Amino acid sequence: YKRQERQYAVAIDGPSGAGKSTLARAAAEALHILYVDTGAIYRTIGVYMYRHDIAPTDAPAVTASLPEITVALRYDEEGLQRMYLNGEDVTKEIRLPMISKYASDVSAIPEVRAFLMELQRSLAREHSVIMDGRDIGTVVLPDAEVKTRARRRFLELEQRGTPKPFDEVLRDMEQRDYNDTHRAAAPLRPADDAIMIDNTDMDFAASLELLLDGIRGRVAS
Ligand code: C5P
Repeated sequence: YKRQERQYAVAIDGPSGAGKSTLARAAAEALHILYVDTGAIYRTIGVYMYRHDIAPTDAPAVTASLPEITVALRYDEEGLQRMYLNGEDVTKEIRLPMISKYASDVSAIPEVRAFLMELQRSLAREHSVIMDGRDIGTVVLPDAEVKTRARRRFLELEQRGTPKPFDEVLRDMEQRDYNDTHRAAAPLRPADDAIMIDNTDMDFAASLELLLDGIRGRVAS
């Protein structure tokens, strides 16, 4: 990651398992900009609720607990994003399978989204970023220079490290994507000015090329 002469932001929104994170991380590396995984931020809130036995669907209880929470995001020497919950590194814990559901549930609560907004925006103010999420191009960074919408691919990735049968994992993931798409607060939808990166029938190298071309085309113009 290097400081850029001209700062810009790339939004990459799409459902789970669309290969967004792998693509975005590779693009960030090629462009020497910062990769920000915003799902990790919602997952960190999910970890707090899980630990405190707060039902992630209980909006009043979740909202009441927000003042007790500090979420921080830092990058280690290898450039990997690490998540901190009240000062404790929870980077591993946020990937536990049940935390996916917690993250999905808390993310439907408008107060949670508002609570995490400034953290996300401040990163884009300070650095050139490629930000991976659901509402980056529509809500968090509506003025992003480049907006992309990834489509589902690499379904098998989500299964890693999970003891559950594949069809159950897939069903859970589809349910979370359905919830993300149909919720009232910042639903997943393509920004009007998004470039569609339809990587359904493309291999990784071709998807990355398409993404990089899209970014370079918009940032240069
Ligand atoms: O991307 P990931 O699956 O780690 O995100 C976890 C959950 O956080 C998603 O299922 C989604 O409900 C929520 N999320 C969101 N907005 C974002 C990023 C993630 O609502 N920008």
